[in-house]
Amino acid sequence: MTTPRRVRVLLVGAAGRMGKTIVDLASNDPNIDIVAKCDLGDPIEPAMKNCDVVIDFSQADATNEICRTALHHRKSLVIGTTGHSQEQRLMIENTAQSLPIVFASNFSVGVNVLFWLTRKAAELLGSDFNPEIIETHHKMKKDAPSGTARTLAEIVKRTRNLDSQIPIQSIREGEVVGNHTITFTGPGERLELTHRASSREIFARGALRAAQWVTGKAPGLYSMQDVLGL
Ligand code: NAD
Repeated sequence: MTTPRRVRVLLVGAAGRMGKTIVDLASNDPNIDIVAKCDLGDPIEPAMKNCDVVIDFSQADATNEICRTALHHRKSLVIGTTGHSQEQRLMIENTAQSLPIVFASNFSVGVNVLFWLTRKAAELLGSDFNPEIIETHHKMKKDAPSGTARTLAEIVKRTRNLDSQIPIQSIREGEVVGNHTITFTGPGERLELTHRASSREIFARGALRAAQWVTGKAPGLYSMQDVLGL
């Protein structure tokens, strides 16, 4: 029996909260080898040469350079960074025509099941149940609403074919890792679905799983739901 080759990773945003969590987790993962790390001001081009996959948990303004360099070197991408502009999202979508990319606003198994449940609830409850989203994160979080809250809103809009915005309330307090609640309020009843993250490891574990999954895939824009087979 042959042992699977370790996936060689370039980690962008390595000095951040998520970057450090990924480094810790990868140090005990026999399938992952973090061969290079970049943070603000480090050149990405030389670091990319010897990796199979780039994992990005940095800031949205790093996206263009990461995509351009990955296209040049034909590397797969796992993008966890949130808060992209329309233009930056378009760059990711265009790059995915040539490279396999897992792009997920949330890499946790629980939140991806929440996405699935939200789609089902939006379908089953009908238009007299009004959706609303509340998200809470630590004070240092740069973007609002969170990428996960935006994804929840997009799921409801797509499922119900809506143009109007879904109300999102963003709370920034303390050291909250990430809480998301979507409510559907109808005549005389209300359904609430909540996910609470208590550790960043859930995102890091999902990103490492995505890095192994995406290696060798055909070009395309994949979600964490594809990785999990949901
Ligand atoms: P953080 O601020 O702690 O870390 C970000 C790091 O990226 C910092 O060290 C910063 O110096 C670095 N950085 C900024 N610009 C850069 C650039 N141009 N090139 C290289 N490095 C750069 O933030 P965090 O909490 O680690 O989160 C990082 C990103 O991941 C955020 O967008 C956050 O919303 C997102 N996030 C996603 C998930 C998910 O599951 N998808 C989970 C948690 C956080």
